[in-house]
This record gives sequence, structure tokens and C-alpha cells, in this order.
Amino acid sequence: MPLPCPACGTVSIRQHSRYRRRLADTALGERRMEIFLSVRRLTCVNETCDKKTFAEQVEALAHIP
Ligand SMILES: [Zn+2]
Repeated sequence: MPLPCPACGTVSIRQHSRYRRRLADTALGERRMEIFLSVRRLTCVNETCDKKTFAEQVEALAHIP
């Protein structure tokens, strides 16, 4: 999914990496639930841009351990 760089507006198509960040630990009834956010890190393809990489937050994932 193309996403414009927040600094220069160039549409980046290069995905740098992906990581998961844990958002919350909640209780659902008696079960514990963890909520993860899947974050894509994108590289700006504009060589004169000093933003280089930026993060996009795409999807929240609920995970029941
Ligand atoms: Zn840029």
C-alpha cells in the first residue's frame, strides 16, 4: 500500500521493516488480552529528503495468549 512521506509527500513504496508494538494489556472477562499494533516502517525514496524512514500504523491486533 503506497503511502506518502509526511515530510516531502513522495509516495514511498519501499518497506523498511515491520514490527509489533504492544499497546495494552486488558482483561476480557477472566481472560487476559493483549492488544498489538502492527507498524510498518517505510523508507522515503526521495534522496534529498531528510526524513529517511517513517512509520505507518496499520492494524491493531488482539491476541489472547
Ligand atoms: Zn520524504
